[in-house]
Amino acid sequence: MTSGKINVTVENIFPLIKKFLYSDHEIFLRELISNATDATLKLKHLTSIGEANVEYGNPVIEVKIDKENKKIHIIDQGLGMTKEEVEKYINQVAFSGAEEFLEKYKDSAKDAGIIGHFGLGFYSAFMVAEKVEIITKSYKNEPAAHWTCDGSPEYTLTESDKTDRGTEIILHIAEDSLEFLEEGKIRGLLVKYNKFMPVSIKFGTHTEGEGDDAVEVDTIINNPNPAWTKQPSELKEEDYTNFYRELYPMQFEEPLFNIHLNVDYPFNLTGILYFPKLSADLQMQKDKIQLYQNQVYVTDNVEGIVPEFLTMLKGVIDSPDIPLNVSRSYLQADGNVKKISNYITRKVADKMKSLFNENRADFESKWNDIKIVLEYGMLSEPKFYEKSGAFALYPTVDGKYYTFEELKEAIKENQTDKDGNLVILYASNKDTQHSYIASAQEKGYQVLLLDSPIVSHLIQKLEADNEKISFARVDADHVSNLIKKEENTISKLSEDEQKNLQEIIELNVPKGKYTVQLEAMDSTDEPFVITQPEFMRRMKE
Ligand code: ADP
Ligand code: MG
Repeated sequence: MTSGKINVTVENIFPLIKKFLYSDHEIFLRELISNATDATLKLKHLTSIGEANVEYGNPVIEVKIDKENKKIHIIDQGLGMTKEEVEKYINQVAFSGAEEFLEKYKDSAKDAGIIGHFGLGFYSAFMVAEKVEIITKSYKNEPAAHWTCDGSPEYTLTESDKTDRGTEIILHIAEDSLEFLEEGKIRGLLVKYNKFMPVSIKFGTHTEGEGDDAVEVDTIINNPNPAWTKQPSELKEEDYTNFYRELYPMQFEEPLFNIHLNVDYPFNLTGILYFPKLSADLQMQKDKIQLYQNQVYVTDNVEGIVPEFLTMLKGVIDSPDIPLNVSRSYLQADGNVKKISNYITRKVADKMKSLFNENRADFESKWNDIKIVLEYGMLSEPKFYEKSGAFALYPTVDGKYYTFEELKEAIKENQTDKDGNLVILYASNKDTQHSYIASAQEKGYQVLLLDSPIVSHLIQKLEADNEKISFARVDADHVSNLIKKEENTISKLSEDEQKNLQEIIELNVPKGKYTVQLEAMDSTDEPFVITQPEFMRRMKE
């Protein structure tokens, strides 16, 4: 038997681990299953290159709760460890950087924006266990090893009579963590963190079939081949919808569109994003984009990784290239993360463009559900704004949908002001602005219906970026000033006559309450018009 002292300069690391990771105790299970998965996939690789002469078979990772003895077992059929490897990987490697890690951790803990997951790995077991055992047999022909550690720097390492290949981790659950002995708790964690991990995970059994045909079968909690790990060409529309269901079982609305992300250079990223139908449903708002690394769930807080306007989408992003043990502010400055964010923005813009081109009627019918996201994107991401001309739509009150270019074309003959600027009329509410809309339509004007909450910002932006274009509310006082191109000049009076007339009228009309205009109005024959400004009308009301 070997016993020894784990080599750390911090006298006892475990109280520190517990203290600093308090809110995140549950990740121990994710870490141990990740290690079991790694061990299994390593063996798969070694057998495939002929380095391990063993049957890979159809390995499963099993999680068992022994409530009576307050233990959790995590058992894999992976490559296992020899005694020397336990010394090396468990005692030395994991601890060599312990002090450094704790230094780093204390710093980032001050930053409220940190991600709570630190890849603490094996030692995160001590967040919930007062004693941990490793019983492991390597694929190499060597005796099995049994390591035991009670959370102090002392450990023991002996031989074991385990005969089958792989590793069993036994956690002796501490008194303050007994909740982890509840079946429902563990199942919840497995579903949250391990639902799409690449090696099958068994948790208990269930009965299939009835009566004499009834058989007890293993309950496998994960889907090892989720849709996002496949090539887009392998998937049908219905596979995407099914995956949405799998991801959000409580979600009954179908998604509107999906976007398959798949890139391996200059960074690695896969995933599927969905545009949801707009909904007041609370469940809907709770379901967020989930971030994975190599099929291990990390978080559903993708702030800083996905451009802000896309955080309203649903779906999955999987990238090993996103640094996670850093604060949010660092994340935003990280070059890779910036590239990832730009890539996602571009993919969404390209997808919108192709959907628009492939089936415009369908795209128009969904515009109302997606406009908030897209308009927000146009306002916040210059690159997205540049591309938006190809798909951003401007609906009219009578149900037509124009692109910005089409809109300009449609109004250029009929909706200019006296300086030759195009004037885009819009209403925000069809009912309350009904009479103004009707009179504008009578004059042959196009009236847009712009009713999203951020539309005033978008209008400002469009005006700033397009010289000679202005937007006007359909009930604004200057709407009546619009002129058709061919009538662009014309007062029927000479300049002298106009001046005299102006003076006469202004003597007789209460000052400031009316505006006097001496141009002929569109098609009417009136030589001049007196209008009351909008704000005066409101004052009377
Ligand atoms: P990491 O997984 O990041 O390397 P861990 O602390 O989680 O760090 O694990 C340390 C090492 O212990 C692993 O790299 C691996 O070599 C070994 N190990 C842990 N769990 C297992 C296991 N179930 N089977 C085989 N080796 C394991
Ligand atoms: Mg690990």
